[in-house]
Amino acid sequence: MQVFEMRGTFCFQEHRDPVLFSPVRTMDQWLNSEETGEPFSHCLCCKVPLVEIDAPWLVNKEIIHDECVLEYAICQPCRDRVTDQLSEESKKSVRNFLETEIDWETRIQEFMLEHDVTARFQQCISCAMPRDQLDGFGISALFDSSGALVTGPLPLLICLPCIGKMTASLSEESREVWRDFLTKNFPGPPSDSGFPGFL
Ligand SMILES: [Zn+2]
Ligand SMILES: [Zn+2]
Repeated sequence: MQVFEMRGTFCFQEHRDPVLFSPVRTMDQWLNSEETGEPFSHCLCCKVPLVEIDAPWLVNKEIIHDECVLEYAICQPCRDRVTDQLSEESKKSVRNFLETEIDWETRIQEFMLEHDVTARFQQCISCAMPRDQLDGFGISALFDSSGALVTGPLPLLICLPCIGKMTASLSEESREVWRDFLTKNFPGPPSDSGFPGFL
């Protein structure tokens, strides 16, 4: 059993039972806040209740050594405001990774054959390395404006090395956008989180 510690931008309440990354988790366990055990209720940036926002929202988490080091929900308008600050070149390099390094056709076929949506979190979307062999990974899920999980390319899991590849060509300015986002929205020392979930 993993014991959680204060780390980075995010920490757990002290007495929370850390039955978190057991091999079998329900979709709710995956997508609820690890901190509260409840669904995310507010957008990280605009602080508006998600149910009151007439737009889809994303849930992103970064998990390293069985510990959630970063988690948030962000509404589409706020996410767009962040990604608008990224350079065209950076956006292009990420798009290029997504188009060439992920076999979407195969993945989507697998997803469609597999009725259990949590199966998407069993391996990296890009290199297909099983989750139990990963040191760290990010997950992303999209909800529609009514709060229903959207199953398309998301939800997905991507491992840290693949995130590294995806972000390898980001410009310094674009990295700064991500660092700013973390500093503005999370208390504590700046995180070294490498998963720009808004890409
Ligand atoms: Zn927002
Ligand atoms: Zn991978």
